[in-house]
Parts: sequence; C-alpha cells; structure tokens
Amino acid sequence: MPNIPVSIVGLKKNIDIVTPIFPVIAGAFAPFGITLTRVIGEELDSDPETTTGGWRDLIARLQEKSKAQSVVHLVLTDDCPDRIWTINGQLRDPDFRSIAAVYFGADLFWKDGDPLTNINLVTQVCIHEIGHLFNLIHDDATPLKYSSAMLQATHRNDEASTVAWHAAIAEAADNHEAPLIIPDPVTYYPFSSICRANLRSATTGSPWLPFQKNFRDMGDDTDEIGDEYVKVDVARRDRHSRIHIGGEIYFTLSITNRRETAIEIPYDIGPQYGSLRVCVKHSDGSQTYHRPADYCCSGARQILKPGESTFRSLALSGPLTGGLSPGSHTCVIKLVDPRAQGNAVLGRTVFNVIATADVSLAKKSDALRGLMAGKRKSASYSKDIRGIPKECPLAAHFALEHAIRLKSNRRRRTLLRDCQRPIVPRAIRHMAARHEYNLRMRDGENREEILREIRSRFRSKRDLELFDLIQRIDRPAREKNREQ
Ligand SMILES: [Zn+2]
Repeated sequence: MPNIPVSIVGLKKNIDIVTPIFPVIAGAFAPFGITLTRVIGEELDSDPETTTGGWRDLIARLQEKSKAQSVVHLVLTDDCPDRIWTINGQLRDPDFRSIAAVYFGADLFWKDGDPLTNINLVTQVCIHEIGHLFNLIHDDATPLKYSSAMLQATHRNDEASTVAWHAAIAEAADNHEAPLIIPDPVTYYPFSSICRANLRSATTGSPWLPFQKNFRDMGDDTDEIGDEYVKVDVARRDRHSRIHIGGEIYFTLSITNRRETAIEIPYDIGPQYGSLRVCVKHSDGSQTYHRPADYCCSGARQILKPGESTFRSLALSGPLTGGLSPGSHTCVIKLVDPRAQGNAVLGRTVFNVIATADVSLAKKSDALRGLMAGKRKSASYSKDIRGIPKECPLAAHFALEHAIRLKSNRRRRTLLRDCQRPIVPRAIRHMAARHEYNLRMRDGENREEILREIRSRFRSKRDLELFDLIQRIDRPAREKNREQ
C-alpha cells in the first residue's frame, strides 16, 4: 500500500486554502489503496513567475528533494505560466512526475467569486493535478460516460458531481469492480473506470507511481473519427519547411469553421494542451510523434462563427526531428477536441519539411533544449549562437531564451526587439513581444503607449492571437489577488 508524502509548497494564502481540505483530497485516492500524507513544505515569498528564472530554480530545488526523500510536491501559486489565465494547473515535470501545480489566479477560480468561495473547484483541481503525478492523463476520461476527475475542469461544467457519482457507481457495478462509495458531502468528481484501474495498479508498485520517467501522454493513438468540420491549414509564408535534423519546427496554423453554424473548439491549441497532435512521417513509412515537455490543464473553449478563422503560431522543439534522415518528409498535424468522444479529429493538414543534416546545428538545438528545460544556465550566449547563420530561426530562438534569463533590462530589451524582426518565425516574435510587454509594464510604462508600439510591428490578422493573449494578461481580479 503506497504511502506518498505530499509537500504543500506555495504562497501562504494559497497554502491556507488547501491545508484544511487536504483530508478530502487524500480521501479521493484512499479507496484505491493510496495513502497521501501531508508534509509541510516551503512557503514562497513571491510568485515564481514574477522573478527571472523563478520556476527553473524552484523546480530544480523541489526535484532534488523528491529524489532524496520520495516526496511529491503540490505547488500553489497565483500566476499561470506566461500568465496565460486559461491554464488552471500543470504537471511541471512530466519527465519525473514529482511536481504538480495549481494556479489560483486562473480564470476558472475567478469566474464566479474567488478561490475562497470556490473551495470545491480548488479540491477538484488539486485531485486532478495529483492524478497526473500517478500517470493519469486526460484521455483516461474518455469515453465520456460522465464527468470524471481527469476531465479538464471547464469540461465538467454541465454535470453536477452527484450525477457523475451515480453514473460511476452504476458503471463500477456493471464492471464487477469493488463498489464505489459516494463521498459525503459530494465535493469532487469520481475517477473514471480507466483511472480507477490505473490507480489500483499503483498499489503493486509499477509504473503508475510518481518519480518515474514514463509519463504516458505520447499522443500517438488518436482515433481517426470525427467529421472534420474545421479547415486547418499551415499559413503560407509562415512555414519554415527547411529544418535541420534534431532541430525545431515552426509554423502558423489557420483554423477555419467550414460549417454553416457556429462551432466550439479548444482555445489553447498546442501539443502541451492535448489539442494538437503533430508527427513526422519518415520516408521509410515510420513516424515520430511530438512529445511535449509540458502538460497543461486548460479546457478553455472558443466560438468560431461560420467562415471565421483563428490563427495559432507554434514553435515545436523536442526530439520530433531527431530520427529523420536527410531529405523530404511529411509533417502531419491534427486538431483534436479532448472534449469529444475518443478525441475526435476536428481537422488536419500536412506539409513537407526538407531535413538537412548539420551536426553543429543539431548540437546547438540540444543546447537550446537544455536551456529551456532549465538544465543549463545562460552564461554562454555568445558561444551558443556562434556559428548559427543569422537567418536561421534557431538564432532567434536562442536570443529569446537568453533574453528571458538576462538580469540587465537594457540588454534584454535589445534582444527581445531583435526577436521581433519579420524574418523570425511568428511564434518566436509573439513570445518576444509578450515578454517585452510584461517587462515594460513592470517598469511602469504607459500601457497604451506600449500597445501602440507593439501594434505597429504586428499588423497581420495572424497576429490577433498575440493581442488576445496580451489582453488577458491584465485583469482587475488578478491585481486584487496579488494585493491580498
Ligand atoms: Zn490535467
């Protein structure tokens, strides 16, 4: 019977919210033979998102502790990654599974009150994130017979937890599982049958326990169902089809509703949200799937009117292109809806990439990934970019990652501005602009002035995503949250 110590780390006011409900959170796992014990963890003075390298340092520190003491961490902060407020929680280290985070500043907790008045929601998100530590993934919630704990929070809106429990109890009886006992009071959702089986497996040791390198979200088994009512295209001139082996892939997607009625699609689109599956088909017929380094829980939706398009720019780095041979390959992109039965494919597109073998660039890509994963410090910027042709997207990506980590504001601003040149892939330009915006806001500059200047550099409708995200950054509720 595994006993997993859970260290509660974070801002004091958030720790104070979760501490009293911890027995309820632990109670969700108890029927499967898993005992969660609360351990008093580090109290943070400030949000890691607000300090340069804050998250990197925190994750490194907590992982050390996990490795030494076999303790998992539930991190409770306000700010979501990159202050994208649609993200409620996250498995911070899919490569080890010891750190789960819940973001109290997320839209979810503020839509109707605040985290203190939405205690049940806080309980549910904590249970969901701890579920990821036990190797449970969002796909485990399908087929969608009822709203379960591993379904993303906003997707459970339309079903009361009591209704979901009665459905789960009936299902468990049908499966001849041990009877489920409905919690009293019912403040959270049940685990679905796949989750229950997986959690029970955790009692026999096995890959289900935390502290292991086998997080399951490979994204390689998308069902080929769905009626593809969305037209997905890689936008012209925004595809960087020449790639180097082991390098990054950059592209902009245009997503259009081809129906005659309005439709709802995921708002957060990318492999890390489970809404996009990307693979490269090799010339010998084999495939490599993109495996995101992050696992974010969002579930936010957007409405597309008939004929309306939305754009998303992506920079995919990872071992996606590692096993390629030089030459032409096909990159397959599928937009999936995690809310639909079996992850229905909403639309798909393919584009060709031409891979070249460049040993020195492959090494540079490795260095960049090390930097992004926080495994390297950024002391050697000039060494890192040495030998990368200026027009190569990798040079700009390096500049951005270094800029984020720089202490000197002036130097950082120059680099961020460099990353917004039109030649740079749109995803990198957008990230750089957002960082510039945040930086200048922090310096107390006038908001309208900053926006006017950024707008002068981003005039395409493909850039609407950038301004939508910027608009989400500042909300009165967050500011109130911060002052508390
Ligand atoms: Zn999740």
